[in-house]
Amino acid sequence: MGLVSKMIKIQADLCIGCGLCAESCPRQAISVYNGLARVNQALCNRCRLCLGLCPRGAIVELAPVSKADLTLTVSSLKQKTEVLIERIEKLRQIRAV
Ligand code: SF4
Ligand code: SF4
Repeated sequence: MGLVSKMIKIQADLCIGCGLCAESCPRQAISVYNGLARVNQALCNRCRLCLGLCPRGAIVELAPVSKADLTLTVSSLKQKTEVLIERIEKLRQIRAV
């Protein structure tokens, strides 16, 4: 069962672009552009140093998820969406009568 590897991510809605993370990253994996930090995953070695530095708690590490679990979640969401679309369509038909 394949795993999607861990990733360091910036939550855009929390980042204020202060640049603390970029200055502290030993791999220069973070850059700030237009007031928003971004992580270059190719440079990041997941040392996790940046995680505790952000004054806004905007930096998170995404846990590994198995591809099988991802597939299951997507499939479940698809089914729920189809049920919702069906219900909306029925409601439309009732309103049209
Ligand atoms: S330290 Fe936090 S708020 Fe500052 S640029 Fe980095 S992610 Fe954004
Ligand atoms: S985990 Fe380490 S290498 Fe990756 S962005 Fe944060 S400080 Fe840089």
